[in-house]
Amino acid sequence: MNADLEHLIVLQRLDSAAQDAKRRLAEEPDREHAFDAQLTASRDIVAAAKARLAESQSVRREHEKTVTLHQGRLSKFREQAMAVKTNQEYHAIQKEIEFAQTEMKAAEDQVLERMLEADDLTAAIKRAEAELASEQKKVEAGRKAMAAESAEFKATLERVAAERSNVVRSLTPQVLSMFELVSNRRNGIAVAEARDGICTICHVRLRPQVFNTVRRNEEIIQCDSCNRILYFVPTAAPVPAPDAAQPAQVTAAAVIAYIDGGARGNPGPAGFGVRIEQPDGTLVEEFSEAIGHATNNVAEYRGLLAALDWAKARGYRELHVRSDSLLLVQQMRGNYKVKNAGLQPLHAKARLLAHEIGHVTFEHVGRSFNAHADRLANAAMDQAK
Ligand SMILES: [Zn+2]
Repeated sequence: MNADLEHLIVLQRLDSAAQDAKRRLAEEPDREHAFDAQLTASRDIVAAAKARLAESQSVRREHEKTVTLHQGRLSKFREQAMAVKTNQEYHAIQKEIEFAQTEMKAAEDQVLERMLEADDLTAAIKRAEAELASEQKKVEAGRKAMAAESAEFKATLERVAAERSNVVRSLTPQVLSMFELVSNRRNGIAVAEARDGICTICHVRLRPQVFNTVRRNEEIIQCDSCNRILYFVPTAAPVPAPDAAQPAQVTAAAVIAYIDGGARGNPGPAGFGVRIEQPDGTLVEEFSEAIGHATNNVAEYRGLLAALDWAKARGYRELHVRSDSLLLVQQMRGNYKVKNAGLQPLHAKARLLAHEIGHVTFEHVGRSFNAHADRLANAAMDQAK
């Protein structure tokens, strides 16, 4: 592969990672507002419930005053009734007593009703307060996760900046200015994969002779339509389906990479594990890594990339990958499309690395055949936050 082109692919990968990290960091104020709004809504419900209780209690006190008032009038009337001289006076007092009694009874009923209402309202306050406490816990956890992500994104930006200056140094200056020009005009994406005769970013079909040149990856070729610099990732030859019950035989020259990745909660704290073995089962090396917050599929691909990097760095020309992820295996064999935008760059990088190694085969194995990598991945997930 053309050295500039190879560096451009890396440069684009770094820029895209930085862009993604910056975008996520820029979203933080909005996420913070959403947390505040969540808490405000719960606090408002508590306040409204408390206001309803206070209102009910104040109404009850008014009725209690009415009861006291009529009690006073009744005892006055009863005293007067003892002193009356005429039948007419007696009947008039009796009428006053009856009226006061009716009024007092109505006020007492109101007091009783408010007491029952207060029980319901107190229970409603308790429920609203419990809801608020649980919201506070959720928001606290959300803020914690956001702070951890934030630190991760900032670390990514720092790492990318350091790696980027190395890559930039090794590029031919004209090629670098071409990259920067296209990147500025095209939303930060200056490098595109050409696949099936099409620029995968602008989706315009390339002229056949252009695509044929791109396929060789020996020259810097731009898309006629969007001007992006094109590269080609050869598809690995499909592997015949192995006997599902028994892992396939592997030639002696190859090493076998058992890979596994996972995320608790999907997405959640994620990690991967890789175990490299000789074809006879002798352990060569084991390693694992916590990768922070990610999905299961991203973790599986990160495991694959680590295995491919490992093999490439040690000059292996042949690698057999065993994974219990059917999706990853079928995508790497070219049988399944990679629809998820988050997986596409990982998949493209894996195909490129596999091509650089030379002969990489993929095999889907049952989880029981992948126990070591599973153990390593789980240990990595324990460390991920
Ligand atoms: Zn294009």
